[in-house]
Amino acid sequence: MSGDGLGYMTEARRMIRDAAREFTMKEVLPVANALDGPDAEIPMSLRDKLAEMGYFGITIPEEYGGLGLGIFEYCLICEQLSRGWMSVASIVARAQGGWIMKSMPEDMRQEYLPRVVRGEFLNASALSEPDTGSDLASISCRAVLDGDEWVLTGNKYWCTFADGATT
Ligand SMILES: Cc1cc2nc3c(=O)[nH]c(=O)nc-3n(C[C@H](O)[C@H](O)[C@H](O)COP(=O)(O)OP(=O)(O)OC[C@H]3O[C@@H](n4cnc5c(N)ncnc54)[C@H](O)[C@@H]3O)c2cc1C
Repeated sequence: MSGDGLGYMTEARRMIRDAAREFTMKEVLPVANALDGPDAEIPMSLRDKLAEMGYFGITIPEEYGGLGLGIFEYCLICEQLSRGWMSVASIVARAQGGWIMKSMPEDMRQEYLPRVVRGEFLNASALSEPDTGSDLASISCRAVLDGDEWVLTGNKYWCTFADGATT
């Protein structure tokens, strides 16, 4: 049991949280104070520093260059990054490869995941619809292949980072 009475907050996790807090205060907050606004883009220099910290690969296995940590550690880090600039935590979220990895063949994992870890290959996704939020099973938008063209039927609501994403 840790000193604060929270058994799950191990010493290793506390160190991960504290490192993220220090990074946020030193590298994220000053940039956010200068740039945060409706059209602000995260500078590439900050993106490179996030990559150096390994934050694009928190949950990606070490064999692909990631930190190989779990969702709890991911939450600890993103909580700290969000304190400085919510958008920074949001682009870190673009990189965590859980859903991508499950459907990827091994040769694609080897090709793409190291690039994800370096912050070079980030995704955007449009899941939410006007009548669908948390309950993804009720998504109604459909994409049907018609000859050489995909025909989309339905509406989407959000696609954060669509303008900066690789996929
Ligand atoms: C800044 C921002 C950016 C976003 N970017 C994207 C994006 O890029 N792509 C995308 O697809 N979506 C995006 N979203 C949408 C976001 O993912 C949805 O808001 C989210 O899915 C929740 O849906 P909702 O707002 O309709 O809330 P609802 O699903 O209607 O939920 C309302 C409340 O009910 C609770 N609730 C829902 N279901 C249950 C349940 N089964 N049991 C208990 N409680 C429940 C929720 O926790 C919440 O408190 C973004 C939202 C924001 C605010």
